[in-house]
Amino acid sequence: MPTLRDLGSEPFESMPADPRPVTAPDDRWVVLAGEAGPVCAIQPATTLADGDRPPGILVASADTDLADALQSDAFEQFADVAALVLTEPDQDRAGQLRIAGVVSGRTLTRMMLRGPTRSTFGITGPMLPGPPQILIARSCGYVEAGTTCGTPKSFRLRPAVMPGCPNQRALTAHLFSW
Ligand SMILES: [Zn+2]
Repeated sequence: MPTLRDLGSEPFESMPADPRPVTAPDDRWVVLAGEAGPVCAIQPATTLADGDRPPGILVASADTDLADALQSDAFEQFADVAALVLTEPDQDRAGQLRIAGVVSGRTLTRMMLRGPTRSTFGITGPMLPGPPQILIARSCGYVEAGTTCGTPKSFRLRPAVMPGCPNQRALTAHLFSW
């Protein structure tokens, strides 16, 4: 069965989520990762300045079944993310994940607009149990007196009612701004 890894990867490097600013080289993406995993991806030849709101991404295991991923709640947000970031177990650090690949938002959109279905991929075998573990990683868009909150938070699907924001910049308490 095809997995997300079969989509291939853009050239990329990864670095810690701080500090800013970060400029991606002309020839590769830069994935910023915090302790909980990837938080955003910066396109080649673009800069994420201090105070910029990081672009949203999808995060999934590289071994996720492709057909399952395409039908997941998280993938419904495909048009609103910079990239799909793939993770895999880190052989050097037990229990940790590392970045396995980056699928650009453009590739993702092209694939989704093709109208994929299970039958397209010839999936006839038994389904894996449970929904795929795919996350939407976003940064809060709340702005107060010119300061963007930018607190990262992960979701399985877009909430109908937004939760409270962890509010890392200690602005006025607010709901997470999608
Ligand atoms: Zn916030």
